[in-house]
Amino acid sequence: MFSRTQHGPLVHAGNALSGLRTLVRLAYVTTLFLFGYLRRARRKLLERGAIVVLTFHRVLDDESYKRSNSLPGIVIREETFHQLLKYLVQQCDPVCLDGAVPGVRSTKLRVAVTFDDGWQDNFHSAFPIARDYGLPFSVFICPGLVGQNAPFWPEQVSALLRINGASQTKIEEVIENLKQQPATCRDAYLESLRKTSNRNWSDASGADQLLTWDDIRKMRAEGVSFGSHTYTHQLLTTISPKSAAKELYQSKSTIEAELGEPCVTFAYPNGDCSLHTRQWVSDAGYSKAVTTRKGAWTAEGDPLSIPRLNVSEGNVTGLLGQFSSMMFEYTTFWWASRALSKSKTHQSARWSSDLEEDSIGQQRRHTPKRSASRESSQS
Ligand SMILES: [Zn+2]
Repeated sequence: MFSRTQHGPLVHAGNALSGLRTLVRLAYVTTLFLFGYLRRARRKLLERGAIVVLTFHRVLDDESYKRSNSLPGIVIREETFHQLLKYLVQQCDPVCLDGAVPGVRSTKLRVAVTFDDGWQDNFHSAFPIARDYGLPFSVFICPGLVGQNAPFWPEQVSALLRINGASQTKIEEVIENLKQQPATCRDAYLESLRKTSNRNWSDASGADQLLTWDDIRKMRAEGVSFGSHTYTHQLLTTISPKSAAKELYQSKSTIEAELGEPCVTFAYPNGDCSLHTRQWVSDAGYSKAVTTRKGAWTAEGDPLSIPRLNVSEGNVTGLLGQFSSMMFEYTTFWWASRALSKSKTHQSARWSSDLEEDSIGQQRRHTPKRSASRESSQS
């Protein structure tokens, strides 16, 4: 995907190391599979009446996959998505997040599919495949960005850095650092990149477009549900309460006006939330909110802090690049089950911890290390 910018012995050494890591992970996952751990993880989730919520962002055809400037952690190929949905309808009970309630008995594990950001490929690629399987899904959109030609800032930064010859590692590092900066700093950096580049970001890729209201209405008419992802994709933990309230209310009211129905679901941009942001989301009138924290939604869980598992091409495919049900079960059920085992601590204690961190300051809470644990996803 990013071979255009990768040259030299250091890159080859990096690729070899990456290949070795892949082999070690595959060996580990195969061991878990052979000893029945993955099967037991799924059974444990089923017995708890848990709902496993999956996070997707983009589903790309092969041509768009080559041209896109999105980070690998938010992309999955059409064929892989197709095979994944086939697995879900055969092995699980796909449900819509909007009407789902955890703790209910089910013969198969319930799984909810969600998309963040509102990319146009959700309409052109994901929607037809999901419709063929009769699989429901939800999309969290930013009304202030709907219909815009310019993609999100990470794609613009990626495109411009690529034009300037930066490596993929460098690009991901820059983007992770920029996530922690105020919007004004990001805009200034982007502007400086534009000035030093002799090409516009849009020359690099036309594959990174967002949904239009027309796309959204067509999908809604066929059962796809829509929630809010703030008005302009601001990380709530990095902006003032006044700005956050505006982002939350304006997004909700715009979606409601465009679709003519209540909007009560929300996805925290980048998954970043705290006790304060949870309260703001509640005050704005949302009744369900999803994060990027690994885990599964259970009857004891907080509906305004629902865990999700991020799914991308790299974490659900095998050595030959094809969909692997074993890798998918490891990426989702295994990690969700582990998170449930570890969650002896009550939600209130977790929020208390966040509150304590709030008092320490926002900078420390948004360390690159924490972001890296999200596999560079940009929810
Ligand atoms: Zn997002």
